[in-house]
Amino acid sequence: MIVLVVNCGSSSLKYQLVNMDNEEVMAKGLVEKIGLPDSQLTHKWNGQKKVVQQSIPDHQVAVKLVLDSLTDAGCGVIKTMDAIDAVGHRVVHGGEEFACSTLINDEVMAALEKCSAYAPLHNPPNIIGINACKAIIPNVPQVGVFDTAFHQTMPPKAFMYGLPYELYKEDGIRRYGFHGTSHRYVAGQVAKVMGVPVEKLRIINCHLGNGSSLAAIKYGKCIDTTMGFTPLAGVLMGTRCGDIDPAIVTSVMEKHGLSTKEMDALMNKKSGVLGISGVSSDFRDLGDAASKGNERAQLALDMFHYQVRKLIGALAAAMEGVDVITFTAGVGENGIDDRAAICQGLEYLGAKLDAERNDVRGKDTLISTDDSTVKMYVIPTDEEIMIARDTKELVSK
Ligand code: AMP
Repeated sequence: MIVLVVNCGSSSLKYQLVNMDNEEVMAKGLVEKIGLPDSQLTHKWNGQKKVVQQSIPDHQVAVKLVLDSLTDAGCGVIKTMDAIDAVGHRVVHGGEEFACSTLINDEVMAALEKCSAYAPLHNPPNIIGINACKAIIPNVPQVGVFDTAFHQTMPPKAFMYGLPYELYKEDGIRRYGFHGTSHRYVAGQVAKVMGVPVEKLRIINCHLGNGSSLAAIKYGKCIDTTMGFTPLAGVLMGTRCGDIDPAIVTSVMEKHGLSTKEMDALMNKKSGVLGISGVSSDFRDLGDAASKGNERAQLALDMFHYQVRKLIGALAAAMEGVDVITFTAGVGENGIDDRAAICQGLEYLGAKLDAERNDVRGKDTLISTDDSTVKMYVIPTDEEIMIARDTKELVSK
């Protein structure tokens, strides 16, 4: 079975064509700047790369261009579009409607539209991507895989906020959590690497990238996570503020005469390690600046490491203990110094980092010492393969 995995952003489309007989990635690529003057497609196959620069006014044209590339005589990997058995779409918000991946039909589309209210920046492009595929390959089944779904097992005591109950009942104000597909992949993969059923492990997965979230996965189920109603909550991130006292919002808006849109941009785009350092949202730049003596860059890093460590403690308490801590995503997989700084002081939990083993980037690796009672691993995430696996499973039923 051949599955096309599609991840649509507001002006981008990432794709992978996966042969699910052996999980081989046949081709992958990225369409950038959809609807903008300098739009382009970067297509990769068999170790080769092709860049197509042309006008790509909307997502439907982008999907057509991707399908043309996949079936092209030169850079293609399949003869015709008929070779594609199913399409799996990443969808950011599935609300309370979707606790698992689902085959897309008209009813599901209506529910997705409803969920857009919770993720006005993310869900509409996901829906546009689904519609674009429906228009071009109408007979190919499509599946939605939700970032929020894995967290639907959280109990009310973890997902409710201390606000009037009606806000939950009427407006759906609650913790949803994000990066669910990544958390689910890493939990399954670390269990596989350890040779222990996931149902026997209490895992804290630290997905640390430009956006960061931690999840407490107790015996295979998520019981708590650090992101909330939106992906703005939890640890401070590249440009997002993470958890702050909610009273700051109204206070800053009043003092500086900011609109809701401006305040939203301040918290989502101008805060986090960028806002603290004034240098960059990129952790490599921060490391460079800090090593040259930039105090604010060092402060941003210290805050990030401290907050992640503090949240590990909170999630360990939530699970009444922890067996495994995993690190994934850009910083989690590659940030050797970041992992070392986060783990400094976790010994009280029984988690001891092995400096030599920690000198690793981007591959499944044990990084704790032999006498560490809590095992620690680097596990590179692979959200695309989860989307492809769910798609195969649902379409095969
Ligand atoms: P992601 O959102 O998962 O793509 O992660 C992006 C983040 O990973 C950026 O802040 C990068 O600076 C960071 N990153 C990538 N490589 C490294 C590295 N070698 N050391 C530290 N951070 C890294």
